[in-house]
Amino acid sequence: MPASPIALITGASRGIGAATARLAAARGWAVAVNYQQRRDAADALVQDIHSAGGEAIAIQGDVGDEAQVLELFAAVDRHWGRPLSALVNNAGVVDKPCRVEDMSAVRLERMFRINVLGSFYCAREAVRRMSTLRGGAGGSIVNVSSGAALLGAANQYVDYAAAKGAMDVMTRGLAKEVAGEGIRVNAVRPGLIDTDIHASGGLPHRVRDLQHLVPMQRGGTAEEVAAAILWLMSPESSYTTASFTEVSGGRL
Ligand code: NAP
Repeated sequence: MPASPIALITGASRGIGAATARLAAARGWAVAVNYQQRRDAADALVQDIHSAGGEAIAIQGDVGDEAQVLELFAAVDRHWGRPLSALVNNAGVVDKPCRVEDMSAVRLERMFRINVLGSFYCAREAVRRMSTLRGGAGGSIVNVSSGAALLGAANQYVDYAAAKGAMDVMTRGLAKEVAGEGIRVNAVRPGLIDTDIHASGGLPHRVRDLQHLVPMQRGGTAEEVAAAILWLMSPESSYTTASFTEVSGGRL
């Protein structure tokens, strides 16, 4: 039997990342579950995957810290001894609602360091391992952007929306850069999805409060986003690169 393809999913202890890890494992991927702080959640997820007969390990690491990203990828290399086939750049943060005129340098630095630099560090390490020009076997990178990149998130978090906009441009540019090297790069843009991220931004009822703005009149689930990510990870999307998939109930 051929060895399972390896997927590294950043920020996979909770929310969209955790749903993606579960679905990937159920579909035969060996999954590296990256997390930053919630070791309990990452370990419980890995345990669940093992109980269901899947393959997974949990690896701590802040994607916004280059040295920790290098160690994260090295840990994946050490554990499986073969290169990864998919990277999901999912780890991301929001902050409290704030107008641009009130945003501190500390806030802006964190927002762009984790969401943008983190995605670049991880994409770079993935390309170094996947590129056929470097002896790799190709692969798929999926960036988890946001509908905010299109909407702008005025009066909530324009910084977050701008960071996701940067991820979108990286998706398009990197996709073209490595398209001839066996690597596809795509993005999903989730809309209002029911996860902990809203409480972390001080708005625990954000999905309930804003769902009337969604044409489908409801928030989405992490599993609904995971399904789109899995398609983009898999060879079923073999001719799709530099693409953007809205998972937003029609809200654009
Ligand atoms: P979530 O429930 O808050 O989970 C965030 C995950 O990211 C956790 O696993 C967390 O790890 C991890 N994380 C945070 N900072 C990290 C860092 N510096 N390094 C490594 N991991 C880190 O978030 P979510 O709603 O699932 O969001 C996932 C992605 O979807 C994000 O990129 C977000 O911007 C995007 N998105 C979400 C929505 C939505 O409505 N939920 C909409 C559009 C886009 P710990 O558990 O260890 O803290």
